[in-house]
Amino acid sequence: MNNKIWLSSPHMGGGEMKYVQDAYDTNWVAPLGPNVNNFEKELADKLGIAGVAALSSGTAAIHLALIILGIKHSDEVICSSFTFSATANPIMYQSATPVFIDSEADTWNMDPELLETAIKDRIKKGNKPKAIVFVHLYGMPAKIYDILEISQRYDIPVIEDAAEALGSRFNKQSCGSFGLMGILSFNGNKIITTSGGGALVSNNLKYIEKARFLATQARDKAPHYQHSEVGYNYRMSNIVAGIGRGQLEVLESRIIKRRENNQFYRKLLSDYDFISFQNEPKNHFSNYWLTTIIVGTNKQGITSESIRLSMEQENIETRPLWKPMHLQPVFAGYPVYLNGVSERLFNHGLCLPSGSNLSEPEKERIVRCFEAIL
Ligand SMILES: *Cc1c(COP(=O)(O)O)cnc(C)c1O
Repeated sequence: MNNKIWLSSPHMGGGEMKYVQDAYDTNWVAPLGPNVNNFEKELADKLGIAGVAALSSGTAAIHLALIILGIKHSDEVICSSFTFSATANPIMYQSATPVFIDSEADTWNMDPELLETAIKDRIKKGNKPKAIVFVHLYGMPAKIYDILEISQRYDIPVIEDAAEALGSRFNKQSCGSFGLMGILSFNGNKIITTSGGGALVSNNLKYIEKARFLATQARDKAPHYQHSEVGYNYRMSNIVAGIGRGQLEVLESRIIKRRENNQFYRKLLSDYDFISFQNEPKNHFSNYWLTTIIVGTNKQGITSESIRLSMEQENIETRPLWKPMHLQPVFAGYPVYLNGVSERLFNHGLCLPSGSNLSEPEKERIVRCFEAIL
């Protein structure tokens, strides 16, 4: 059997070890230290944002953002339905109520029109939403200006889930830097990784300080351990931050490679007009974290699932698109505003191997497999 071709696997740059070694040699083996501080600075520079709090995961970052906004029991929080569950789970940690919004067909992200419909309806029902959490799925920037304009008009703060969109830009500005707070993830499958990790980013340094405070058990200023708030153990470790510093050095080349992968699939599948792609509208620059296709109806009876199964036979990993949150058993019964787009994407979509370490021989295997299927 050939080696497995992964959807998106870690791709070390080589520079990581010197930072990890340095942490080891100086005994900064702790959830604080020079790598954490420098990773925060270097990431802030990359994004063009004032402040970064390095955390244990992207999920933790969303959780802290909600806590900082004061989200609590029975508050409503608007959330993209078409996403990974990590976007919505922290709303549940706060015993708040998620209100799911379907996607628009251009970027596959939160539909601004439905967003406004939902806000008006929630207000009419007497419970004005306290926050909006929206995503840039697969690296594709959402219709950010439309979402921000609505959030400002109704005075509802925005949390931007850029977990999949590090290095993506809208109108030349980095994703993650538009919302009141943004979050990033450095999980093993993301465009760069620290093995596991995340960050909360903001131009408001008060939020960043508050995130660091809450992430380190909310210790008051006192010689003894004194607490006036519930704290969390959400800080990034100095070892992990060392990996992150090395990874940041190669981020640009990783984006180039992922975009090349996207071009490779477009060329490979250009003869099949029932296969379509997630496209960049004007001013949208995607890191193309994952290349995704939609398989429309065709005479041969090929479906996204039949492609997935054929690929699996050849030890090539592909995956259906995210199953929308409003279709997940755990979120059944929560309010949702629908137009059918995300369900259609889920039923006909497939993520293709997109790692920046995808080799030429691996690409040839994928070509052969597609040729056999098509
Ligand atoms: C990966 C991911 C997260 C969560 O990040 P973790 O670091 O794995 O906790 C959140 N939202 C989206 C859209 C993601 O893809």
